Amino acid sequence: MNLELDEEQVAVRRLAAEFTDREIVPHATEWDRAESVDRAIVGKLGALGFLGLTIPEEDGGSGGDHLGYCLVLEELGRGDSAVRGIVSVSLGLVAKSISSYGNEKQKREWLPRLCSGEAIGCFGLTEPGTGSDAGNLATRAVRAGADWLLTGSKMFITNGTWADVVLVFARTGGPGAKGVTAFLVPTSTPGLERRTVHGKLGLRGQPTAELTFDNVRVPDTARLGGEGQGFKVAMAALAKGRMSVAIGCVGIARASLEAAVTYAGQREQFGKKIASHQLVQDLLADIRVETDAARLLTWRVADLIDRGQPFATESSIAKLYASEAAVRAASNALQVFGGYGYIDEYPVSKYLRDARVMTLYEGTSQIQKLIIGRDLTGVSAF
Ligand code: FAD
Repeated sequence: MNLELDEEQVAVRRLAAEFTDREIVPHATEWDRAESVDRAIVGKLGALGFLGLTIPEEDGGSGGDHLGYCLVLEELGRGDSAVRGIVSVSLGLVAKSISSYGNEKQKREWLPRLCSGEAIGCFGLTEPGTGSDAGNLATRAVRAGADWLLTGSKMFITNGTWADVVLVFARTGGPGAKGVTAFLVPTSTPGLERRTVHGKLGLRGQPTAELTFDNVRVPDTARLGGEGQGFKVAMAALAKGRMSVAIGCVGIARASLEAAVTYAGQREQFGKKIASHQLVQDLLADIRVETDAARLLTWRVADLIDRGQPFATESSIAKLYASEAAVRAASNALQVFGGYGYIDEYPVSKYLRDARVMTLYEGTSQIQKLIIGRDLTGVSAF
């Protein structure tokens, strides 16, 4: 793995860093309090090409490799995980799935709009009754002439209330993962209702929704991939998606470190800067080490993808480590801030709240360990 960034990667990172400092950091606390990111951010992200990264230019994307994608998402994650997540889902889970599994018509219909920010995508896998055991999902799609009728409910769907299209997974066959098919459903389709999920611990600025499908009629051309291929589509999306979550966690850890170092250099106790207390340096050093380790684990995933190598286990390793590290980093940073870390005048309490979900979504830490264990032993403990 070559750790030296090329000119293009350095330039895209600088662009993302400047954008984050100008358009995200000054608003993140206000968006968190208001429980809504300013939706105009989507168009701005699209204008810079950040919603089309890694999607071929001929399909409406902005191209580039997965390391460049990670550089951008680390910066966005440093600014506000709510914004990073909007990109991770619309681009990372939805547009990339269309790019990999869509036919020419589906690509033409959705990719230019998703990559420009004119349209937003959401990913509907989780249901009220099935989270980790996603292959057991209950939403059904039944044939109605040349069409399909979808009925069921999807829970905790990021971008749910904003999205123009949902990549939804429904049962078209028998029980288990092999009976699942993927569909691209415009959210304006009659019978699809959306309800905002309020009261989240973190990622408050992000639109999270429950989606209910009541005989939602879609043509067979809405099917993404073959009948019974849906679980494969979902798992392929999540394998790459875990890299997005991991690099977002690196962003949180880095923001936590930068805030804690700055504060430690200003605050005085016992007649000296708290930065000069050894136990405070211990907290800071731990964050630094774990941030670097998480970044390197995540860059390894990007490197494997860019070289066309298998990467799913490495993606689970990066996601597991980076998400747990981000929680520890934000918690350590809050410790450095003392009582001031506990109020939202400073950003570290938000970092901790935002980090906490990273060990849950796109597969909990326990699920990542089962994936890694299965790879080691050849035995599935699911
Ligand atoms: P459960 O699966 O019920 O798990 C509960 C506990 O049991 C966990 O600790 C889990 O690790 C443990 N557990 C379960 N099975 C095992 C096992 N075999 N061995 C050991 N332990 C086990 N989903 C989407 O489809 N799209 C989205 O855009 C999306 N966005 C989200 C945004 C937010 C803010 C949140 C909170 C969730 C989001 N999710 C989304 C859902 C998320 O992926 C699920 O919450 C997650 O997969 C866990 O499922 P669950 O909540 O049903 O927990």
